[in-house]
Amino acid sequence: MLATSRVEPLVLPGPPLRQIRISRISNITLIRRSSSSSAAEAMEEQQRQRVVVCGGGVIGACTAYFLAKKGAAVTLVEKSSIACAASGKAGGFLAIDWCDGGPLSSLARASFNLHRSLAQDLDGPQSYGYRPLTTLSLTITESQTPHPQNPTQSLPSWVDGPARNPRTIGTTNTTAQVHPELFTRTLLTKAVEEHGVEVVIGKLESVAVEGGGVRAALLEGGREIVADAVVLALGPWSGKLSILSSIFRVYGLKAHSIVLEPKEPGAISPHALFLTYYAAQGGKPMDPEVYPRPTGMFTDHMFWIICIISLNCLVAEKMWGNW
Ligand SMILES: Cc1cc2nc3c(=O)[nH]c(=O)nc-3n(C[C@H](O)[C@H](O)[C@H](O)COP(=O)(O)OP(=O)(O)OC[C@H]3O[C@@H](n4cnc5c(N)ncnc54)[C@H](O)[C@@H]3O)c2cc1C
Repeated sequence: MLATSRVEPLVLPGPPLRQIRISRISNITLIRRSSSSSAAEAMEEQQRQRVVVCGGGVIGACTAYFLAKKGAAVTLVEKSSIACAASGKAGGFLAIDWCDGGPLSSLARASFNLHRSLAQDLDGPQSYGYRPLTTLSLTITESQTPHPQNPTQSLPSWVDGPARNPRTIGTTNTTAQVHPELFTRTLLTKAVEEHGVEVVIGKLESVAVEGGGVRAALLEGGREIVADAVVLALGPWSGKLSILSSIFRVYGLKAHSIVLEPKEPGAISPHALFLTYYAAQGGKPMDPEVYPRPTGMFTDHMFWIICIISLNCLVAEKMWGNW
């Protein structure tokens, strides 16, 4: 986990005048050129737009990565640790066309395609479990009596519950997944190592505005980071800042999830399941989602999904969003 923003100066062998400052922030190494570079470099540095990105979730990490890649001098401020909230606990499910017909359609399509190309650039399959998926919808009716093995060919072998009406709702061309925490951390590590992003662990308290423009990000404890622009990517906490809440409302939705560790990772086929689940005692059907992934299985909404799939689970950990 990222833990500190302390920077220890270190001179590495290399071209003259080229000092590199390295600080270990746990598993991320921070590398920045020092200000003692050539005058031209110093001038160039001065002309770079200084952007403070607040929030170390997937939105903050991606924003920092792409801005720094375009040449901005980026500092990312995270109050706790990188991907500690929804961005570390999500299903990591991606779909190209599930927003079609709505205002987010083109954004969702661009995002899906960007994930595909990022996975090539960042070795996504190895680094953060990127993989295309077949996505099924199923109906399960809970039963107290033992049921025979599922005869339906289209179901993955690890579904042994009384499943009905399997329907393919996404193919390997239209749906995919990532491990969200690994994705966020991989991208930020790249941003730090190759594009000089600095990570600061600290809590943003407010944004200083002067003459109609942003002047600095103000952190708890009095630290001030001067900026030409501040990006607020604080997830559901964004609404706590009056600069935003005075304009529009941001709020969070709680969801719970569990991660199960399978005994046989090889049995985890590239499928995602969207279930309509009828409990034995009746009541409204529920709609858990199941995202098996090579890096640990994830179920969304209900923890007892474990009852209707057979995965020889070693560990069942209930995980809650921390807001
Ligand atoms: C259970 C669950 C399953 C999900 N499944 C999917 C899915 O399958 N596919 C999908 O696309 N989306 C999914 N989502 C939604 C997705 O996870 C979120 O939309 C996304 O992670 C939001 O990212 P974010 O960076 O905006 O916010 P967050 O991940 O909430 O990050 C905000 C960060 O800001 C930091 N912060 C807060 N206040 C401050 C402050 N004052 N100063 C500094 N830092 C601060 C927090 O510590 C946090 O790290 C799921 C969400 C949940 C909860």
